[in-house]
Amino acid sequence: MLKDLYDYIQQTPIIDTHEHLSSEDEHVNNSPDVLQTLFEFYPTSDLYSAGASREAVLTAIDGKNPDVEARWNGIKDAWELIQYTGYGEGVRLLAKHIYNIESLTIDSIIGANQINETLYQPGERLRLLRDVANLDHVQIDNFVWQCSPDLSEPEFFLYDISWANFCRGELRIDELYDETGIIVTDLKTLRDAMEAIFAKHGSTAIAVKAQHAYNRTLKWETPEMRTVDSTLRNILRGDLPSQSNQLMLGNWCWEQGLQLAEEHNLPFKIHTGYLAGNELYTDPDRVRAVHFAELFHKYPNVKFVLMHTAYPWTGEIMTLAKHFQNVYIDMCWAWSINPHDMINFVRGAIHSVPLNKIFLFGGDTRWAPAVVAYAIQARQYFYKALEFEVQDGFLAESEAIKIASRFMQDNQRAVFDIEGTQSHMSI
Ligand SMILES: [Zn+2]
Repeated sequence: MLKDLYDYIQQTPIIDTHEHLSSEDEHVNNSPDVLQTLFEFYPTSDLYSAGASREAVLTAIDGKNPDVEARWNGIKDAWELIQYTGYGEGVRLLAKHIYNIESLTIDSIIGANQINETLYQPGERLRLLRDVANLDHVQIDNFVWQCSPDLSEPEFFLYDISWANFCRGELRIDELYDETGIIVTDLKTLRDAMEAIFAKHGSTAIAVKAQHAYNRTLKWETPEMRTVDSTLRNILRGDLPSQSNQLMLGNWCWEQGLQLAEEHNLPFKIHTGYLAGNELYTDPDRVRAVHFAELFHKYPNVKFVLMHTAYPWTGEIMTLAKHFQNVYIDMCWAWSINPHDMINFVRGAIHSVPLNKIFLFGGDTRWAPAVVAYAIQARQYFYKALEFEVQDGFLAESEAIKIASRFMQDNQRAVFDIEGTQSHMSI
C-alpha cells in the first residue's frame, strides 16, 4: 500500500462532472426505498441481461410496492450473476457503506429501512455528496435548458444546458416560446430562440450537454441549408419529417449549439460510446466519437468533452484527445461500466495523452447514495491504476500524486469556469 497516494486520493474532493441527480424536492418527497436505491438506474440493465424478466426488474425498483420480499425474489437469481460486474460492485458498495449490509438477503434489505429513512431527509442529499462522497461540487444534466440556482446549495449543484433535443432535430416550439417569448417561424427565429436560451442561462450554466447518441448516429455532416429550411417549415406546419431530414436539422441545431457554447465560453459535453439500458442499438458503430471529428477542426475554440471514455472505443478516444487540442475525455460512468478496463485506460492515457485531458469521475446517476458508492469505486480503481504504475517503476509516488490531483480537480478547473459560474449564483 502506498499510503501517501492512497490518503491523497481518499482525502481530495473530486470534481464530479456528470450526474442526473434528483432535485432536493424529489429526494425528500419522492424518495426510493432500500431496494429501489440499490438497483435503480444501471444495475437493472445487468439484471435484465442476466435473464430477469422486464416485469421482475421493474417491480424490484418500484419503491411504492410494499411487498419487498416478492420484489427481491424476482431478481435474486439474476443478482447472483451480476454481483461482480461494475454495476453489481456499485450495489455491493452502496449496501456496505450506506446500509451496513455485508450480504444482500431479504432480512438485511428489510433491516436497512431505518437507515434509508435518514438518507432522504432535507439536506441529506448535499451531506451525502459533499461530506460522504467527498465531492468538490457536482455538475448535473437534468435534461432541461434551465440552469437556475439550486437553492439547496447554489455553489455545489451546478447545471448543464441540455442540447440533446436540438441535436436530435426535435424542436419544442411551445416550450421555446414559454422560455424565450420567441415564436419560431423560420431558421432565423429558431436561432434567436437558441440565443435567448443562452442569454438567459449561459452565465449560470457550467456546460452544454447532449446525449443524442441514444437516438441517432453521432455522424455529423454539413447540413444542406435548403433542406434544413424546408424541414423546419414542414415541422411548423405539423408534418413529421423523414428520418434523414430530421437528422440534417439536428446537425444544424448541433452546430448552432457549438457556436453559442463558444460565445458563452461553455464546454460542450457529448455522450459517446456504450448506451445504458438494454437492446437499444442495432448499429453499435454509430456511437463512436470519430464520427464528428470534423467539428473539432471546424470549432477549434470549443472545448469538446467526450464522455464515458467512448467505451469500448477507448483507444480511439485517446487518439482523438492526443490529436486535437480542444478534445477532453471524461471518465464519468466508465468506472462502473468496466472498472478493470479503466485501470488500463488510466495507465494507457498517462503514457499517450497529455495529462491535462482527463476528468476522473461522474457517477452519472440519480440518487445521492448511489453517487457515494460510485465515488468509492472510482477512487478504489484509480488508486490501483496509479499503484501499478509506481510498483512497475513508471512513476514515483510523488508523480502519481500530482497526476491524481490533475485528474480529480485541476483539469476540470482549467476547462470549466467553475468560480465564474459559482459567482453568478446569487439567490
Ligand atoms: Zn448521463
